[in-house]
Amino acid sequence: MTDLTSLTIAEAKSGLSKKEFSAVELTESYIKNMENKRSLNAFVKETPELALEQAKISQSKINSDSGGKLEGIPLGIKDLFCTKEIETTACSQILKGFVPPYESTVTAKLLSAGANFLGKLNMDEFAMGGSNETSIFGPVTNPWSKATPLVPGGSSGGSAAAVAADMCAAATGTDTGGSIRQPSSFCGVTGIKPTYGRCSRYGIIAFASSLDQAGPIAKTVEDCALMLEVMSGHDSKDSTSSKIMVPEFSKVLGQNIKGMRIGIPKEYRVDGLNQEIAGYWDKAAQILKEQGAEIVEVSLPHTKYALAVYYIIAPAEASSNLARYDGLRYGNRVNGDTLDEMYVNSRTAGFGREVKRRIMIGTYVLSAGYYDAYYIKAQKVRRLIRQDFIDAFKKCDVILTPTTPTAAFAVGDKTMQQNPINMWLNDIFTVSISLAGLPALSLPIGLNSQGLPLGMQLIGRAFDEESVFKASSVLEKEACFRGVK
Ligand code: GLN
Repeated sequence: MTDLTSLTIAEAKSGLSKKEFSAVELTESYIKNMENKRSLNAFVKETPELALEQAKISQSKINSDSGGKLEGIPLGIKDLFCTKEIETTACSQILKGFVPPYESTVTAKLLSAGANFLGKLNMDEFAMGGSNETSIFGPVTNPWSKATPLVPGGSSGGSAAAVAADMCAAATGTDTGGSIRQPSSFCGVTGIKPTYGRCSRYGIIAFASSLDQAGPIAKTVEDCALMLEVMSGHDSKDSTSSKIMVPEFSKVLGQNIKGMRIGIPKEYRVDGLNQEIAGYWDKAAQILKEQGAEIVEVSLPHTKYALAVYYIIAPAEASSNLARYDGLRYGNRVNGDTLDEMYVNSRTAGFGREVKRRIMIGTYVLSAGYYDAYYIKAQKVRRLIRQDFIDAFKKCDVILTPTTPTAAFAVGDKTMQQNPINMWLNDIFTVSISLAGLPALSLPIGLNSQGLPLGMQLIGRAFDEESVFKASSVLEKEACFRGVK
């Protein structure tokens, strides 16, 4: 029998409905893989009994032809999603032992579509980071690592690594400035951050509320489409979730892209862009052209401010969101002689270095006297960045860029550790899209000379994930590969 864990969701669905294997057998093979690959540190909590129980229910639904869209599909869930009665920590000391009494809307939707949950996935603490090294559970190893361990990217590093290593059929991720796309690129898998408002944020532990979005990480474009169809939709519990209808994304895959205009932003040819990535960027444009698309140059002139703007707005919102962890109403407590001392002790012990750095930057830029100079200014430039995209999309339908300026780097890389700015620079191609609230998908385009995967990013207009999926499926078919080589 073929290894069930190497199947895509679409293939597994077909195998289940043809009774080639049962939902329990499928889940058991993932559980075995999860156990065999524990050294990758992708899961921070395994829930095999729960997954098997859910698989049994799925099988009876499949038998009676009453299964949902993801009936019997085993998933991994990023530890930022509150899962009812399953510990949810955001990989932070301050939430260790927190067992939510409720389910996030996105995971509730996945459950009601019939998916089963193998466990919670590792991530950067509170989703702050780009290498998964800020987790209290330690770093995840990228399954593509050769002699030295490489990072899987972050913050959804556990999600991307688990999908790449066939430890789950697909996973949930969240993306505030690149956290779905960058790890997908580093691990050779596919992930989409949908338009801001497409998925409900209810029950997702907040980092930066005007940027946070949930999305899937999966093996293929089709699997991402299937997952996103289930995860999306308006939710009365999140006033920023959109009422715009959710299309059947999987319907547009493979459709002709003749006449589609693909924009190449000239400002993304940044210094330090790896030559091999630049080569694949040209190749991807060429492939789309051969398939009938038209390549046009576009300009996003405010790109150079994107990182500065993001690293003001995201920490500002984070410092406000994280104020709730005071050791009193919420989060772990470390006692002190006075109330103030208890706050200080709890937060000192509960938060890691990167989170503290963000809180300090955030409170600084929001403080009286600096608010106008930093925060308000950043909001104004954010508007200009969004306007850049609105103007560019008058000339094109989808924008094509690399996902990251480099391939995966080593765990503990000195240049990243000694200067956090270097880590932040890795987000150069992803943050502006988050600031503009647009959908963007990263897919694996090829390997570099060290045999490591590189990703391409396709960006769409707000709520036009369909064009992104359409172009991505064509590119995937012509250029991509599947699985760790
Ligand atoms: N790397 C970025 C940061 O550290 C993005 C994180 C994210 O998207 N959650 O803020």
